[in-house]
Amino acid sequence: MQIYWSKINKIIEETPEVKTYLVDRPEGLTWEEGAHIHLALEGFNAGDKPNRSLIRHMSISTLTHEDSIGITTRIKEQCSEFKTILRTLEVGNEVAIFKIHSNVPLRREDKNVYLLSSGVGLATFRPLVLDYFERADNVNQMHSLNIDSSRDFLFTDIFKTATDKKFISQFVDNRKTYYEEVKNLAADKDGLFYVVGSDEFLKDNIEVLLEQGINPEQIMLDKREKQLPEFLTVDVSI
Ligand SMILES: Cc1cc2nc3c(=O)[nH]c(=O)nc-3n(C[C@H](O)[C@H](O)[C@H](O)COP(=O)(O)OP(=O)(O)OC[C@H]3O[C@@H](n4cnc5c(N)ncnc54)[C@H](O)[C@@H]3O)c2cc1C
Repeated sequence: MQIYWSKINKIIEETPEVKTYLVDRPEGLTWEEGAHIHLALEGFNAGDKPNRSLIRHMSISTLTHEDSIGITTRIKEQCSEFKTILRTLEVGNEVAIFKIHSNVPLRREDKNVYLLSSGVGLATFRPLVLDYFERADNVNQMHSLNIDSSRDFLFTDIFKTATDKKFISQFVDNRKTYYEEVKNLAADKDGLFYVVGSDEFLKDNIEVLLEQGINPEQIMLDKREKQLPEFLTVDVSI
């Protein structure tokens, strides 16, 4: 396994609690839209075993040609050891990056694509939207629905409705409106539904989508293939 130690080149304060860390792209490193990495902090591999409290999965919120690996995360006042350290890092500090993999590449199947997310889950979708804007081939249209109760919505420069690009972006701040809208979107029985957020959020969304007649094959989750049955298996017991 290759570990890349790379420097932070910029830190963007997206909202009072959300930061994007831009990390130098190691030479030759490329990734697909929807990819995630293992992000690790100094000292994570100092002992016999990797120190898990210094490692987290993070989506890459950028595309390869942006030339930086973007990591967008919420850091609350009460936070883990990982985020307590991350918060203190500055431009020039190094972080480790390894195991890059995408579970949620853009499916170009001449269908409508729906991106359902909660909070910083939107970061996973930023590269999918950019990829679609750059090349709309075999994607009919795209619709993003994000719920964030803080109302500090993210990436509003990209996530704004653009009829010429066949892109709709909706931000909502409460569950009632959110799930009403999910039901409306699920009226498209042929659509592809990407869902990113906490496991509880995934389960709630999947329940609504399946109830509305969407098939598990139409639902994309940022999970490894072997984890998918836990979320997408339909209970047929009577
Ligand atoms: C494929 C994949 C992609 C992912 N992509 C991203 C991504 O792009 N961005 C991202 O942010 N996360 C992402 N995650 C989730 C990420 O790996 C972390 O699990 C998540 O950010 C939580 O981080 P944390 O455990 O450091 O906890 P924190 O975020 O620090 O804390 C989690 C919660 O616990 C509370 N808490 C923590 N410590 C304390 C304490 N001492 N006292 C009281 N309350 C406390 C916090 O307030 C918070 O509500 C991804 C996960 C996967 C599997």
